[in-house]
Amino acid sequence: MGQVNDETPVKRRDAVLAWLRGRAVVPAVLAVAAILTGAYSLGLAVDPYVAPASTAASPSASATATPVTRPAAQERARRNSEPMAQPITGPNRPPLPEDRNGPFGSRMTTGMSYVALTFDDGPDPNYTPQALALLRRYEVRATFCLVGENARRYPHLVRAIVADGHTLCNHSWNHDFALGARGRTVIENDLRRTNEAILAAVPGEKISYFRHPGGNWTPGAVAVAREMGMTSLHWTVDPQDWTVPGAGSIAATVNAGAHPGAIVLLHDAGGNRQGTVNALRSILPNVGRRFLLEALPAGIDQPPRFGLELPLHPGQI
Ligand SMILES: [Zn+2]
Repeated sequence: MGQVNDETPVKRRDAVLAWLRGRAVVPAVLAVAAILTGAYSLGLAVDPYVAPASTAASPSASATATPVTRPAAQERARRNSEPMAQPITGPNRPPLPEDRNGPFGSRMTTGMSYVALTFDDGPDPNYTPQALALLRRYEVRATFCLVGENARRYPHLVRAIVADGHTLCNHSWNHDFALGARGRTVIENDLRRTNEAILAAVPGEKISYFRHPGGNWTPGAVAVAREMGMTSLHWTVDPQDWTVPGAGSIAATVNAGAHPGAIVLLHDAGGNRQGTVNALRSILPNVGRRFLLEALPAGIDQPPRFGLELPLHPGQI
């Protein structure tokens, strides 16, 4: 009390004015922010996929199922100064927390509590329909990383994937394991050709992810994908189903390795994938009982911000 009485009237007046200004400014700022972000913010507020803060904060801490090469501090500093590829969000989906913990700044977790199944190398006329049927039965949506040649050959399967609500991902034109080591023009032409083949089947769809063949990431491949508006998508759980270890082995690895935020690497093409399909009969009920199994967000057109239209990239249009 003594301190208050010692204050001069001028000091007290200034203090009151400062307090009033604070009271007036904060709601005004919030109101402007709410107007600017509009329904987008409202969508986030009611979205059921928002994970607890503790889960979303450091999902990669537990994402150790597959050891990855940590980039040097210099590379980390460089990539952190770059914008994110965008868009890792979607209609009625919250933006995913940033995750560049995969090789060369690729994403290796969902960053949320849900688990994402990903299927590479398709579409395939034998295994893709089987995988789609099982995913449909368990009401699970996944992410399909398509090879351009296969998309061109089986456009009806690309349409079936999209019709079931799955998310699309670019897996290169013809699965060139060394693509990332080639010149950036070669990489860009390859990814663009692949996107065009996919979009020829499903015009207007979003292709917001790129997965390098074999996970042979290079800084160049990640950079080109980012410039084209695609997030480089690595993984956290790898049952090595391409080695055809049998359905039991595939299911055991995935069921044991699933954890919040995990991205699971599977293949629905590129060889005998009946083991992978059969493993889904275990994975879908087992993992699905413990975690929400969901596709990565398909992506949305980049919204205008503060009156400025940010440039759109091919994968976002
Ligand atoms: Zn592949």
